[in-house]
Amino acid sequence: MEDYKNEFSNNEITVTYEPALCIHAEKCAMELSEVFRTSVIPWINLDGTETERIINQIKRCPSGALKYQKNITKRAS
Ligand code: SF4
Repeated sequence: MEDYKNEFSNNEITVTYEPALCIHAEKCAMELSEVFRTSVIPWINLDGTETERIINQIKRCPSGALKYQKNITKRAS
């Protein structure tokens, strides 16, 4: 079976979550509960706050379960 990845996007970034890596420290939920929610599905709400804050929180994930990449935006020529 293929490794399932949770993927969430807003206009600026795409966030992925790999449950197999998560050590359930709940650091993300405790520190940025507007985005990382323990009792709501979908559990990651990228509309909860500014993208910069989400990126900073993802960088603090101790296991590497949370990752992000910036979306490629089309520029008007
Ligand atoms: S911070 Fe990372 S390791 Fe901790 S609960 Fe969130 S995703 Fe899992």
